[in-house]
Amino acid sequence: MNCLRCNSPMYREDYDHVLETAGQGFRALHCMMCGDIVDPVILKNRRERAEPRGDRARLAVVTSLS
Ligand SMILES: [Zn+2]
Repeated sequence: MNCLRCNSPMYREDYDHVLETAGQGFRALHCMMCGDIVDPVILKNRRERAEPRGDRARLAVVTSLS
């Protein structure tokens, strides 16, 4: 698979994302040229909605201030 941003070859890497997978490792693709990372959650969100991570980020800021 090639990068969606710069169309360079992507490398497989194992990740462990605290928020998305709660300590469960998963395999993602990492572009060495532009640094873009595509994981199963990102691919799922892109199919379902355009910018789900933006909503989540704003919610996290509000929670930390309260
Ligand atoms: Zn790239």
